[in-house]
Amino acid sequence: KAKDDGKARYTWFSEAMLANTQRKVLISTRLSQALEGDAFYLSYQAKVDSDENVIGFEALLRWHDDVLGEVSPAEFIPIAEQTEKVSLISMWVIKRVGIEAPQLIESFGQHIVISINLSPMDLNSNKLTQFIISEMDTDRLPSKNLEFEITETAYMNNFNVANSFFTAIKKHGCRLALDDFGTGYSSLGYLTKFDIDTLKIDRSFVNDIGSSKQSELITKTIIEMAKSLNFSVCAEGVETHEQARFLKQNGCHVLQGFLYSRPAPLKNIIASSLAR
Ligand code: C2E
Ligand code: MG
Ligand code: MG
Ligand code: MG
Repeated sequence: KAKDDGKARYTWFSEAMLANTQRKVLISTRLSQALEGDAFYLSYQAKVDSDENVIGFEALLRWHDDVLGEVSPAEFIPIAEQTEKVSLISMWVIKRVGIEAPQLIESFGQHIVISINLSPMDLNSNKLTQFIISEMDTDRLPSKNLEFEITETAYMNNFNVANSFFTAIKKHGCRLALDDFGTGYSSLGYLTKFDIDTLKIDRSFVNDIGSSKQSELITKTIIEMAKSLNFSVCAEGVETHEQARFLKQNGCHVLQGFLYSRPAPLKNIIASSLAR
């Protein structure tokens, strides 16, 4: 009996693994087509200050595939990272932001900052760095309106690689944010080595405000650390007024989450009540 169970479980497990692998391969193949067609689009999510004024937007990549339907970037970005397609995707995003940014700036003001997510793997690509710089030098995409969000990872510890990217970007006047802060790589040394502007407190801590004293303590500690190191600090994934109140009371003045705005395509954002 026990042996049967074991066997059944084994079969189930390997089928699941096979299905998983097949899906990855399919995603990878379809991604190449998406890069050539028009299956990608961007959604934007507002960031607000403590008076709920919009101070910027995060560009979030969306993919609607004819075969797979809507696929989340949380699923396809890691696959793209494995197959080195990710920098091509980043270029697509940067180009698209260049096309759409003028409309956001027109609707929300010259001061707004548009954030683009980059994969840590992008830091290795000189080609991408050059591409970013050449795109920024156009009038459509002023560098003062741009920020790059990079998830803190072990890559940060490869000082030379990360530093040459950061230096090139900062020289052109863009801002840099560390995304998902607090969950990734635990060496804090890079905080003083790199010219970072913003820490984004990971959603998992924000989510637990009101239910976990530990997460509240970690959140408070990140805010305090950010302030004493002269970084600005943004909380992502704010969903409730209670979370917002806690964050503001503890000195976090940039908030982002479903409470204020769900990510939405440009035309919806411009038509929404957020616009002036
Ligand atoms: P991220 O950069 O940390 O983005 C925040 C994610 O949290 C987004 O998921 C956003 O839709 C979601 N979110 C925002 N507010 C709330 C909230 O109040 N509650 C909840 N439950 N979720 C919230 P999304 O768009 O699915 O993106 C997932 C991740 O995929 C991103 O995490 C980022 O790491 C990556 N990603 C998205 N777009 C790009 C891109 O253009 N390039 C790269 N390299 N990565 C991207
Ligand atoms: Mg982000
Ligand atoms: Mg992230
Ligand atoms: Mg994040």
